[in-house]
Amino acid sequence: MHIDPVNILKDHDLKHTKQRVRVLEEIALDTVAISQPELEKKLGKEIDRVTLYRILNTYEDKGILHRIMDMNGTANYAICSSSCTEHHHHDEHVHFNCSNCQKIYCLDVKIPNIKMPPGFTASSINTTAYGICEKCSAGMKAD
Ligand SMILES: [Zn+2]
Ligand SMILES: [Zn+2]
Ligand SMILES: [Zn+2]
Repeated sequence: MHIDPVNILKDHDLKHTKQRVRVLEEIALDTVAISQPELEKKLGKEIDRVTLYRILNTYEDKGILHRIMDMNGTANYAICSSSCTEHHHHDEHVHFNCSNCQKIYCLDVKIPNIKMPPGFTASSINTTAYGICEKCSAGMKAD
């Protein structure tokens, strides 16, 4: 997936700042989600924690990033599909949390339509699968 941070900011009416561009660049580097501590480590010299936190929140609000909690309760961030808009996320795909490398993958697997009981309105549904990812499985076979 090709990500152009400058265009994304423009599309979402966000002011273009160097720090905002850096955060998106870092997240768009890989196809797997990136955890908040990892982002802090990578961007710590350029962006302080509070600013980073604020940028991530803005991106989540705007439908640019979605947050996935891993099995340790750490927030991870991944780029949204193009159908996400402000306050309306449509990331109804399965996430995969590898118990070996701890990485979170956005899988191209749709969550089936889950019917809520009367009176319950779900604004988002998260489905996370836990196990061993493709890369780790390949590494294990090689041993
Ligand atoms: Zn989204
Ligand atoms: Zn793995
Ligand atoms: Zn995802």
